Amino acid sequence: MTTRNVIIIGSGPAGYAAAIYLARAQLSPLVFAGDKFGGQLMLTNVVENFPGFPEGVLGSEFMGKMREQAKRFGAEVVDQDVLAVDFSKRPFRLWVGEGMERKEYLSKTVIIATGARARMLGIGEERLVGRGVSTCAVCDAAFFKDKVTFVVGGGDAAMEEAWALVRFARSVTIVHRRESLRASKILEQQVIEGHKDKVSVLWSSQVVGVSGREKLESVVVENLKTGKRKKLAADGLFLAIGHLPATELFKDQLKLNQKGYVVTHLNSDGSEVNEKTWLEGYPMMTSVPGVFAAGDVVDFRYRQALTAAGFGCMAALDVERYLTGSTQRW
Ligand code: NAP
Repeated sequence: MTTRNVIIIGSGPAGYAAAIYLARAQLSPLVFAGDKFGGQLMLTNVVENFPGFPEGVLGSEFMGKMREQAKRFGAEVVDQDVLAVDFSKRPFRLWVGEGMERKEYLSKTVIIATGARARMLGIGEERLVGRGVSTCAVCDAAFFKDKVTFVVGGGDAAMEEAWALVRFARSVTIVHRRESLRASKILEQQVIEGHKDKVSVLWSSQVVGVSGREKLESVVVENLKTGKRKKLAADGLFLAIGHLPATELFKDQLKLNQKGYVVTHLNSDGSEVNEKTWLEGYPMMTSVPGVFAAGDVVDFRYRQALTAAGFGCMAALDVERYLTGSTQRW
């Protein structure tokens, strides 16, 4: 069986950026794009914050173009999910397909770019994503000029969502299930105290329903103390209740952090990183040498298409150097 140079798992901006770089380096990457290729951007409407697209670009079109670009340079893209991996031996082994269709692949290196998905409330709001419901105000706030918006969550992300919205929306109501926030005080002050005219908080409350056929029209908010429910007109509902990295497949194979994100030399708590790792090593490498990771599966902080693509590029350059045994110092 052929042993590949590199297999990339995932087809968001991180996976495709890595594929473009590695294909151009003539390392013939194989990308397992997954049954539903394209990642979170396939759920986004228009991407307006990726440099180079002054008019914006549809999320699905954008991912289609990245895929085309990777293929143009010789990346092989397969729309299948990787169902199992074995990183304990070299070459690494990966399996796709089930039953009679099960197929094994061998590779010298692997880049994990499986991303993360925003946690949803599970009240039927998923069908309205991109039509009033969003998980990224940094991306979508500008579509809510003079609109009535709600943000669910009480962490830093919720404050950032509200912060991004406040410049555009007519009102921003934060709905939080407790009586106090877990967000950092400084963010809380900047967002809530600093914008009393627009921002308000519904404490001890939960969004328990959404309605709207073509687009979001209203939300139902329940006061968790009294049990009383109110239906409120809404144009936007922003969920900031955490993310779930897609790392189930790797949990027994790689070091993950407490929240399940893949630990690389770049995002580790510092225990395995020193200046030498940065200068001579592989910042995007995981706890298993030869396995790298990039994008939202690593990054619980920035979570942007642009940063994911940047991480994909970094992982590709690390892989290239790892495979060619270059001793080049930065
Ligand atoms: P987080 O800190 O875990 O907060 C998630 C919030 O969502 C919590 O308030 C939680 O409520 C609420 N929540 C969870 N499940 C819910 C549900 N089913 N229904 C209603 N509410 C629910 O997550 P995050 O805000 O995404 O932040 C993740 C990490 O990134 C944190 O370490 C954060 O500090 C960091 N971050 C930093 C910045 C910054 O520094 N500028 C910005 C963004 C994120 P409870 O409070 O009741 O648990």
